[in-house]
Amino acid sequence: MNPGSSLKLGRIFGIEIGIHYSWFLIAILIILSLSGYFSEEHGTWASSVIWSMSILTAILFFAAIIVHELSHAFVARLKGLPVSSVTLFALGGVARIEKESENPQTEFWLGIVGPITSAVIGGVCLGAARLIGWTPGSDPDSPALAILVWLGFVNVALAAFNMLPGFPMDGGRVLRAIVWRITGDRDRATAAASKTGHLLAVMFIVLGLFMFFGGAGFGGLWIAFIGWFLLNAAKASYLEVELRRALGDLRVENLIENNFPVIESNTSIDQIVDDFLLKSGERWFMIVEQGVPVGLVTPREIAAVERRLWKFKTAGDVMRPIADLHTVDPMTPAIDALEIIGRENVNQLPVIDDGRLRGVVSRERIINFLVTRRELNL
Ligand SMILES: [Zn+2]
Repeated sequence: MNPGSSLKLGRIFGIEIGIHYSWFLIAILIILSLSGYFSEEHGTWASSVIWSMSILTAILFFAAIIVHELSHAFVARLKGLPVSSVTLFALGGVARIEKESENPQTEFWLGIVGPITSAVIGGVCLGAARLIGWTPGSDPDSPALAILVWLGFVNVALAAFNMLPGFPMDGGRVLRAIVWRITGDRDRATAAASKTGHLLAVMFIVLGLFMFFGGAGFGGLWIAFIGWFLLNAAKASYLEVELRRALGDLRVENLIENNFPVIESNTSIDQIVDDFLLKSGERWFMIVEQGVPVGLVTPREIAAVERRLWKFKTAGDVMRPIADLHTVDPMTPAIDALEIIGRENVNQLPVIDDGRLRGVVSRERIINFLVTRRELNL
């Protein structure tokens, strides 16, 4: 999922909260199915009441998911792992944690806090319903009660679902933490959580298809679809383990390219294209001012400028300033650099050491390394 294609709602404690566009479709489906559910249960209530209940319930449901994700974010922060954003998308929420847990304990709390939070939200809703007159097993007889009871059960179910022991569910993190703790081997633990995630996903697909052909209709397809999504997520996390293994302890230091082409910031774009871009075959250029690196220019920055302006604009006008670039230091693990490259959708990252630019590390260089390893059967 690309966090770029999401609507930003704002920040809570510095964590950006966003809604991915795929979410809006699901929000409509949920409101529709809630209104169907409420009107079936409470046929005598006015349709205006049913619709307002459905919209309010959907909003509270998504708020509960955001609180669930924020709980992951807070534990991550507490353990010193930076968190940039929480995004809601079609099938739930995701807290973007920028770093891997350093020990199984952190991983354990990071995983389990989500289901605990959902269970607490569910418990509070059911408890509140109880206090204002609902008896378990009976039909809630006011809109407020109906909303509380629905949210209560759904959040408890969400907690249970998230405890399934496989990636990408929270239970996958918990399983990973336990295997990691027992074996002392993080990669093996990740592989285990990915494999069980894989298995669970296949079970969802099979179950969903059986239900669909058994006459359950859309509900069955929905479960199969969730399974398909889980399968992809489990595969992605397994791929990451394989990559991590292949790259091993390799650090950016060993991959730095420092014979990069340098261009003065007052060079015109025309000149860059003719004298450097088309001649050298290089795809990016370091821009300097009196010998000090100030930014980076790639074909992307140049293509963004209208061609007739190429004569008048300089490298300094179009470059991406160093301060705006994601940078790494020489000791950054290569796998983390690759992760940033993928996430930021760039081809290279400047390597900064003690405030000085040492060179860049490129996607191409890391991939070449992987290809070489494979050729040598390492
Ligand atoms: Zn979670």
